[in-house]
Amino acid sequence: MAEKKPSRRTVKVEGGPTIDSVPITYRHKIPIGRTLKYWDGLREGRIYATKCKSCGAVYYPPQSDCPYCGSSDIEWIELLGRYSRDLY
Ligand SMILES: [Zn+2]
Repeated sequence: MAEKKPSRRTVKVEGGPTIDSVPITYRHKIPIGRTLKYWDGLREGRIYATKCKSCGAVYYPPQSDCPYCGSSDIEWIELLGRYSRDLY
């Protein structure tokens, strides 16, 4: 089979074809009561993340449900305290 030659209209673009990006917005509603510890922590100078008790995944910013396994069994862990102890 003969190799097909590119037509004259073929334009080679370095890096291949491009597509314009568009901004996307991801929104989800979380009851304030389930994130209250995070906001209270910021006021006290502490940074909290959430840890999934089922799979152990840690999320910052905190999640009310584990995006990985879907569990709602979440515990709060303090990030800043942990890292500041490592510094001193
Ligand atoms: Zn999980």
